[in-house]
Amino acid sequence: MSDNDIFGQAIARLDEALEFADIDREAVARLRHPKQVLEVSIPVRMDNGDLQIFTGYRVRHDDTRGPTKGGIRYHPGVTLSEVKALAFWMTLKCAVAGIPYGGGKGGVTVNPKELSRLELERLTRGFTSQIADFIGPETDIPAPDVYTNAMVMGWLMDEYSKIHRKRSPGVVTGKPIPLGGSQGREDATGRGAYYCIKSLEAAEGWRPGDMTVAVQGFGNAGQHVARLLQEDGYKIVAVSDSKGGIHNCEGFDIPSLCTAKNETRVLRAVYCHGSVCELVDADVISNEELLELDVDILIPAALENQITGRNAGQIKAPYVFEVANGPTTSDADQILSQKGTTVVPDVLCNAGGVTVSYFEWVQNRGGFYWTVDEVHERLREIMVREFAEVWNFAKSRGTSPRTAAYALALGRIGDAVESQGTARYFAGN
Ligand code: NAD
Repeated sequence: MSDNDIFGQAIARLDEALEFADIDREAVARLRHPKQVLEVSIPVRMDNGDLQIFTGYRVRHDDTRGPTKGGIRYHPGVTLSEVKALAFWMTLKCAVAGIPYGGGKGGVTVNPKELSRLELERLTRGFTSQIADFIGPETDIPAPDVYTNAMVMGWLMDEYSKIHRKRSPGVVTGKPIPLGGSQGREDATGRGAYYCIKSLEAAEGWRPGDMTVAVQGFGNAGQHVARLLQEDGYKIVAVSDSKGGIHNCEGFDIPSLCTAKNETRVLRAVYCHGSVCELVDADVISNEELLELDVDILIPAALENQITGRNAGQIKAPYVFEVANGPTTSDADQILSQKGTTVVPDVLCNAGGVTVSYFEWVQNRGGFYWTVDEVHERLREIMVREFAEVWNFAKSRGTSPRTAAYALALGRIGDAVESQGTARYFAGN
């Protein structure tokens, strides 16, 4: 299996969970293969008049438990294997969260930072028209992921609605609120991770003021989890983006960093009073150095394959919360487990995003919208409940939270498969 075979590596981890999972072999065999894979080419007229062709993918991994659900990523590193792995993780994640969806994912191989806003809109509308027969409110529902946002989702909904000649807000989640988005979707992924950290705080009995935190990836998910933790007294001592990171043992003021980053696209160590920001002391560090800092909590919130067999031995944080999808490779997992590091896995830790996406879809179908407090409370209830399920399973069976989460998810998917009959049933056993 090559390093680029992200899907192969993701599927291989199923085997570790099988000894703990109550699931029929047939159901497992189905999970090893995505249900449907679509590759499209997207011709886009660029601002200078040239025609450029981009490649896009949409994968529906498994829909036994409901329509497939998962984000769309715009990134130069997008490959079919990556999209298949991300779709597979979505199948597990929806089962871990106990929401009635299967897993899907999409992506376009593009560097969106090199596109103008108009080019980005044309790309999104072109991609939507290529996948318009594949997605739908009852079949496959996209959402934002790396380098896509609410506005991109709004364009997608608009284009899909034009093609199908009816307004279809339920075809996509993470939309702008005036176009049918949900309150509380913007910070849902970070907030879900925050509820996981609060659950472990209660279990382990630490005090927020004693805890230092490093966050790799200061985008949607990373910014919100950092903000919520700081509001609670945690000290966020390092953050980074694709260009590198900053570190200060005294901790940063996260709203100031967010203001500066979101306005200038540059991550700078600043403290802002209103709209006036002044520089504060900080060391410039690389993403690799951030991962190896001597902190209590490490939050990878960027891309997959960041903690690997090469650097896992140097990870000092005793707690890792995987806000990104797939940040830890399986050889790294083994090293971390031998060191006694607690890793709260992606399929649980970042499930807040898809959970509030589910709330958005429910609201679109009902045409009745909830308050932000209702969204937060329902999200909190699900995250706290499912964290406890995973944690108690791991403790009682003597396994890792990741294996526990996979085993619980497999059990739930297995229940759905067996409800339709497997070889055992048809053989009369
Ligand atoms: P985003 O585009 O808002 O932010 C990504 C951030 O990562 C940016 O700050 C970018 O500069 C940084 N980054 C990119 N490459 C990096 C690198 N090599 N090292 C360090 N930082 C790097 O994306 P997001 O929505 O916050 O997603 C981040 C992660 O969370 C992804 O793995 C995504 O799949 C996962 N996730 C997101 C959601 C969601 O609702 N947005 C839900 C579940 C999981």
